[in-house]
Amino acid sequence: MTSNNEAIASRAEVVIPGGLLSPSRRLGAPVAFAKAEGPYLFDADGNRYTDYHCAFGANVLGHRNPAVFNAIAEVNESVDLIGAGVLELEVEVAELLVSAIPCADQIAFCSSGSEATYHALRLARAYTGRKQIIKFQGGYHGWHDYVAMNGQSSRQMMNSFDPMSDGILYDAARHTKILPYNDATAVEEYIKANPGEVAAIIIEPIAHNMGAVIAQHQFLRDLRRITTENGVVLIFDEVITGFRHALGGYQSIVGVTPDLATFGKAATSGYPIGLVAGCREIMERVGRTGEGAVFMGGTFNGTPSSLAAVKATVQELSKPGVYDRLFDLGDYLRKQIDQIIARHGIKAQTAGFGSVWLVYFFDGEFSEYADLLRNDNELDMRFRRALIAGRHIFQPLQLKRLYLSLSHDQSVLNDTLELIDTAMADLARSAAA
Ligand code: PLP
Repeated sequence: MTSNNEAIASRAEVVIPGGLLSPSRRLGAPVAFAKAEGPYLFDADGNRYTDYHCAFGANVLGHRNPAVFNAIAEVNESVDLIGAGVLELEVEVAELLVSAIPCADQIAFCSSGSEATYHALRLARAYTGRKQIIKFQGGYHGWHDYVAMNGQSSRQMMNSFDPMSDGILYDAARHTKILPYNDATAVEEYIKANPGEVAAIIIEPIAHNMGAVIAQHQFLRDLRRITTENGVVLIFDEVITGFRHALGGYQSIVGVTPDLATFGKAATSGYPIGLVAGCREIMERVGRTGEGAVFMGGTFNGTPSSLAAVKATVQELSKPGVYDRLFDLGDYLRKQIDQIIARHGIKAQTAGFGSVWLVYFFDGEFSEYADLLRNDNELDMRFRRALIAGRHIFQPLQLKRLYLSLSHDQSVLNDTLELIDTAMADLARSAAA
């Protein structure tokens, strides 16, 4: 008999390309979700899953957090999308963010992280009058043509032009230079060899799109120095790190302030938002009319329900001890998994920061994408499939990060650790056979 999951997935195949809203949503089996609550998801056949995907990291508070839920219901009592003039809610949220984010004199709203990085890069090009962008191998900044390249590249394609999609306009993409992460010398040499050409450096200050490669603090300080000396705009893409690791983003932790920063995902704990934050001198281009104006349109920019979600999320994340709890949960999980790995003698290690975690299947140090090519992708995938079979949700793709939310508690993690123990024991047994 066909299950509800299979029936819904087959209908999806007919009317939705690939049956899913993005290829990254593929789980390897037909699962149609029907309900979400705290750390759990429920499918159309009533099965319960523990969620370590957290909506690509957006969901930091846990599913259907009552504070966010009620804030949206409340705003809907008075307004929906108006798209003209200004709302006090817009001002209130911008004021909250300006006081939290070190680089922010002003904030512009859009609807997704990709829109935010697009607008930040357009702003940087307008401000500098230059064309080129530096992006790092393994980073992801959204789907648009300026940056949709060089994610999980093969060794051959690493650091050269490796588009993520057919249809990307080479003329738009060719101005993006790919360099290795954590290599300030490569950045400085490139900028010096191309004087007056580079408009911006865009960087994830923790490269969560290759798991959790953390930028060395000195590297970020060097980027700040090099960009200042050469008139280049420094953009921190904090779409993952922002709000999840600190309200003011990773910049508030590391103490390096970029010129512009982009946010999305966890800013609303699950509703569409993109934010561009930055210094007045650059941001004022968005508000200008006439010469030098940077157009940042969008019917849904600052949708009131999303802004209500930002406000409620910021209020929840501002409560005492919230980040300590997120970091403690992440540290507990990583420590326990490292003990399991050691017990089973597997060549692997945990990585992560705060509530973002994963297991790399190699040992030794890593600081850039090339190091991650040592990952045993087959073991990684077998581990992921075993957890997914045990009704845990995250992407079945090597090197992809997993998340926790504030609704995950130690007992949820302990159930997962039991499953991880079994999965690692199986991997160890098959390696020995
Ligand atoms: N920047 C980073 C660092 C991301 O991880 C993502 C998405 O995963 C984006 C930008 C794009 O955000 P969105 O998917 O909301 O367009």
